[in-house]
Amino acid sequence: MENSDSDLSGLSQGCRMSRLRAASMGSILTFVLLVSPGAGCSRSATQKSPSSSRSDSSLRSSARNQRQNSKEPFIRVMLIERAAELALAVAGPYKVRQKGRILAQGPNLRKIRVTTVEGQPQRLQIGQLACPPGPIEIVPRTPGTLRLYFNQPKRAAFSRLYGGFARISCRPSKPSAAANSGGIDLINVIKLEEYLPSVLQAELYAEWHIEAYRAQAVAARTYALYEMRTFGEKRDYDVRATEASQVYRGIGDQGYSEKALRAVRNTRGIVCTWASPLGERIFSTYYSSACGGMTQNAANCFKSPSIPPLAGGVKCSYCNIGGRVYRWEPVRLSKDELTQLFVQRFPQHAGLGTIRTIEVVRSTADGRPLSLRLRSDSGPSITVDSYSFRLAMGGHRILSNHCKIVDLGSSFEFREGRGFGHAVGLCQWGTEGQARLGKKASEILSYYYPGSRLKRAY
Ligand SMILES: [Zn+2]
Repeated sequence: MENSDSDLSGLSQGCRMSRLRAASMGSILTFVLLVSPGAGCSRSATQKSPSSSRSDSSLRSSARNQRQNSKEPFIRVMLIERAAELALAVAGPYKVRQKGRILAQGPNLRKIRVTTVEGQPQRLQIGQLACPPGPIEIVPRTPGTLRLYFNQPKRAAFSRLYGGFARISCRPSKPSAAANSGGIDLINVIKLEEYLPSVLQAELYAEWHIEAYRAQAVAARTYALYEMRTFGEKRDYDVRATEASQVYRGIGDQGYSEKALRAVRNTRGIVCTWASPLGERIFSTYYSSACGGMTQNAANCFKSPSIPPLAGGVKCSYCNIGGRVYRWEPVRLSKDELTQLFVQRFPQHAGLGTIRTIEVVRSTADGRPLSLRLRSDSGPSITVDSYSFRLAMGGHRILSNHCKIVDLGSSFEFREGRGFGHAVGLCQWGTEGQARLGKKASEILSYYYPGSRLKRAY
């Protein structure tokens, strides 16, 4: 599409997140029991079929009918980690509580610093209030009145509003480590449905189709629930707010778009499942920006067992509306720079001389290199998977591992590049392409996650 070019620079910004998100996701794919007898799974939910042509309206009416019986979980989002101090405010009534006990409360909380008090065990200090040891919670009475202040290196200071409440804890500092090695963690605890609009706004373009938003809402919800139920018990948070999980930026100055709110509301509680040998299970609903022509097996990237919804091989030309993320321009890297980038990511190969040749050892049926053999000036050759290799080169620079690598003497050229991201699961540009052609969210989800079904988790 001619006029889509103006969108592309912005899009590659927006969509790289999901690619990188998945890049650093955990590799363990355990199957989580989602729907069990008596767990609130309704008949109308189980009747829902991704192939239903009435998906849109039925999604919505089903969501309405279920609302009163829902048991919506809270999600714990790690927002700030190991900070020396942090600052926050609440524009309205609030409480500071610890293990159910109120430590302080007031009509509003002006911007205050949260620091740690020396001593064993380490304790938090909020403004003038020295707290007993242990995590504390700052709970606004009115949702969306919690403001956090960020002061990051190489970036102007900024603040954001968040829903839910803040749980703050401090890690014990190690005597041998640097002064700020301990630090303060801040976790935003928020209802799952209130978390999702922020993810949609970060992952999709404002002008994208409502059905693309609905499909992404289901994928993001399923992913979040999968993380919560698979990893949540082993740590004090469920997801990160970055591309390590799903990008979450709070409420934003303009609030949420009506489209993001509507997409979440319309799909409330709905997740993707598949019929595993052990019963109906949710799965890690990976998604990436543009598959470039065909999705690939999750096992190629994430050491996941191969399951039908993530087995790849789904043909998709719908993402061709992505223009230069569907087919990207050649990228050239000198052999010296390429070697340097490789060693940065794989320090165990620090003694490696300059990489001179790159050979494709194994590819998918559609020509995506899976495994590469690198030869340098010295030492034995190294075999590396192309997924990790690409991330070493920079996921924003080499947009996907579906490309040819051509030796130009002093440099390598990555050419005939297809797609943006890992191409596992849902293709975001393809989702938008299908939505523009009139496909419903449920049809799009069953297209990219073959054999999956839509069910109501709560
Ligand atoms: Zn695609």
